[in-house]
Amino acid sequence: MEEKLAELKARLAEIYDLRAASAVLSWDQQTYMPPGGAGARAEILATLSRLAHEKFTSTETGRLLDELKTTLDSADPDGDDVRLIQAAARDYEREHKLPAELVAEFARAAALAHEAWVKARSEKNFQAFLPALEKIFTLSRRAADYYGFADSPYDALLDGYEPGAKTADVRRIFAELRDGLVPLVKAIAARPETDDSVLRQRYAEQKQWQFAEEVIKKLGYDFDRGRQDKAPHPFCATFGLGDVRLTARVDENFLPTHLMSAIHEAGHGMYEQGLTPSLARSPLFDAPSLGLHESQSRLWENLVGRSRGFWKYYYPRLQSVFPENLDGVDFGVFYQAINKVKPSLIRVEADEVTYSLHIMIRFEIEVDVLEGRLAVQDIPGAWNAKYKDYLGLDVPDDSLGCLQDVHWSMGYVGYFSTYTLGNLASVQIFEKAMADEPAIPADIERGEFASLLGWLRMNIHQHGRKYQPGELLQRVTGRPLDSAPYLAYLQRKYSEIYGL
Ligand code: ZN
Repeated sequence: MEEKLAELKARLAEIYDLRAASAVLSWDQQTYMPPGGAGARAEILATLSRLAHEKFTSTETGRLLDELKTTLDSADPDGDDVRLIQAAARDYEREHKLPAELVAEFARAAALAHEAWVKARSEKNFQAFLPALEKIFTLSRRAADYYGFADSPYDALLDGYEPGAKTADVRRIFAELRDGLVPLVKAIAARPETDDSVLRQRYAEQKQWQFAEEVIKKLGYDFDRGRQDKAPHPFCATFGLGDVRLTARVDENFLPTHLMSAIHEAGHGMYEQGLTPSLARSPLFDAPSLGLHESQSRLWENLVGRSRGFWKYYYPRLQSVFPENLDGVDFGVFYQAINKVKPSLIRVEADEVTYSLHIMIRFEIEVDVLEGRLAVQDIPGAWNAKYKDYLGLDVPDDSLGCLQDVHWSMGYVGYFSTYTLGNLASVQIFEKAMADEPAIPADIERGEFASLLGWLRMNIHQHGRKYQPGELLQRVTGRPLDSAPYLAYLQRKYSEIYGL
């Protein structure tokens, strides 16, 4: 059986390599590739996706997995090899259902849709994106039919990002959040509006870039095994052991855009950099789910990066980098500004309190399209109506509306709800870290992040995808995912900031 296992691992390593090659090319498409390369790139990505899919779903892989599964009963259930076989078997089960031509067509459509989206967004022209977006939703729906589902096609797609999660769970969580958040948003709206003009001055791009780089380096993101480049949409991409990259976007007229998203993406990057090296080139060299991945990025961005303790350390440093903007500006004014709660149009710039409402809107639209209640061409209308309804805002054009996010253009339908799941998990995890390591808050105030990162490495990062998402959260925090700690955290923090 040792030989079979070695054979399986060798196959899985080659499949990992093919996918990593796709990741490099996709990263390049979003950073440096000239627009003229889109057609050729779409073909390359389609070929690589098809090859990886064919190799993974081949009868040879299936036979190896079947033989190896018979050895599982007698082995240590938490051993890396057992977990590897189980994870690969689950992936096989899922991917095997998709025909290779659909996989290739999806990769090609996504690469072309991405180019169409970049252009449509800059021209504020939804019609220019519509054919590509219709294709993405049609292919997503076809994939859901191949995967199979009991209740909603959304279940089938969500399972690819958040194994084990159900549309009904997401609905329940959103209902709980709505009940908790709406009164909080109202109470805050009744208080005087925070003046955040201090953040809306001109902050030179080069200095912003340097400051954010210093911050994420100190948090623990390792530039010897990573780098940061510009892209229209911030993301984190891993090409394998020792190469975990971040992208960023700078707004010279709003300080938090770059800094907070750099911290966010570094949170993803530190997770990937903390994976156990022996898991490299295997299906375990990843996080168990997007929700857990997001729990790490949001933990660093919000629970650390928007905390009083963090700014006690960093505000004087920020003042020294931008004296022309911040000399004489009180700490309290800055801290309130960086935590300003106000309904806004752009998800990635949303405050912690209203953020989930942005996700709810996307979730509802995706479910409606997939279940046939909403036509893709009617998305802008539905989007704008929901922004009016949930956030009280008029959407002036689609670049500030349904064209703002990269996800659909990359074929990621069923993805958005994992952001909210990640937010909930971030608070549960952070509270457990502080219970285990009471020095963490004081360390953060001194600009020391090793105790927190060390705890996260030990309890979460190193395991990669060894555990299922629900299983890992239970092991780490002793509880399943729960909206109560998240709501209590928001209540506590913003009652203090807004004097509720
Ligand atoms: Zn993220």
